[in-house]
Amino acid sequence: MARRNRRASDEAPRPLRSDLQQVEEHEDGDWHVRRVAGSSSGKTYRCPGCDQEVRPGTPHVVAWPAGTASGEEHRRHWHTPCWEARLRRGPRTSRGRGPRY
Ligand SMILES: [Zn+2]
Repeated sequence: MARRNRRASDEAPRPLRSDLQQVEEHEDGDWHVRRVAGSSSGKTYRCPGCDQEVRPGTPHVVAWPAGTASGEEHRRHWHTPCWEARLRRGPRTSRGRGPRY
């Protein structure tokens, strides 16, 4: 059930801050997404995609569901490749399609 709304020219009407933060539409919902160059707080986070550490200074993606406050408990810190691959490795596998012998 892919939605096909092409709104290429309708991007980020009013940036709230100078952050690289935006709401992105994905198959699993809308997410606030912020791409950060690296944590300045020196904290290490746990990437939910690969269950490895996101070390301080690693460029990564901070995401939380649209409609929720940007509280720490909602935020997830992802490695950039893990964030982009998460829908591909999700629970919806394409097994069962194709020929079986
Ligand atoms: Zn990861």
